[in-house]
Amino acid sequence: MDMLGVVARLNTVSADTCIQWLSDVAVDRWLLGGSAGGGPMSLSRRLLLTWLFTYVGGLGLYYLVATADFLLVFFALRRWLVPDYVPDWPSVRREVAYSTRSLAVMAAMTTPTEVAIQLGHSRVYHDPNEFGWAYLIASPFLFLLFTDSVIYWVHRGLHHRWVYKYVHKPHHSFVQTTPYAAFAFHPMDGYLQGVAYQAFVFVFPFQAALHMASLAFVAMWTINIHDRVSFGIPGVNGARHHTVHHLTFKANYGQYFTFWDWVCGTWRDPDSLGVAGKETAASSQLLEEEVYGKKYL
Ligand SMILES: [Zn+2]
Ligand SMILES: [Zn+2]
Repeated sequence: MDMLGVVARLNTVSADTCIQWLSDVAVDRWLLGGSAGGGPMSLSRRLLLTWLFTYVGGLGLYYLVATADFLLVFFALRRWLVPDYVPDWPSVRREVAYSTRSLAVMAAMTTPTEVAIQLGHSRVYHDPNEFGWAYLIASPFLFLLFTDSVIYWVHRGLHHRWVYKYVHKPHHSFVQTTPYAAFAFHPMDGYLQGVAYQAFVFVFPFQAALHMASLAFVAMWTINIHDRVSFGIPGVNGARHHTVHHLTFKANYGQYFTFWDWVCGTWRDPDSLGVAGKETAASSQLLEEEVYGKKYL
């Protein structure tokens, strides 16, 4: 297939076509043994399949990418960087269990919006030519800038002492994170930090296949910033920045870029902390108390 043929197929790749396929082929033909495509899909079936698609897809990506990151980057490279390093296995198991449970609830919380997008109530479009090629190429960057800005402020709000212990504290119970901490959030925490991704497509046009690819990228990025290994690209909020966030309970609230942290004075240089991940759980608990005050924890 030539390049144009590949691009033309972008038209047909979207969450909508995946859900339609699941309904027509997986449910109607395989599960019920009938003929595929028996009329319009009921709303309850669409909601259920969308939840299943989001949860199973998200979980599959999480297990696959977090495991690859854990083995290749986190474990192999870190052991080389810090030879006496031994993972805290009980904490790793807790990260996986928490992520697996929370993803189910977070998928349910985002399902109504995903269904609204499928039913054409957002600015998601299919034909790559509709808004021109320049916009098509620029839109993923716009997506990152918009969501990074919103998440910075949502994240700072989650660290407010009146909110912290109810919603965001569970994620910060992982001080020495591994890639498996990526979705270890209280479901409301994960949902609030994900609102920007949902809001974007109601404000800006976004091509359907790019939208799906961008959400997969977001998941992979979230895994990546918890592996504690990064190259220190200027302006990019990499894993070392996010490690500082977990070690200090403040500073480096950004998701992709350091821009807002830099503007608001919350940026902290990972080098200044000598991020080696040797802090004990006891000292991190004391630090958490120091930042929030005991009565807010
Ligand atoms: Zn935080
Ligand atoms: Zn984190």
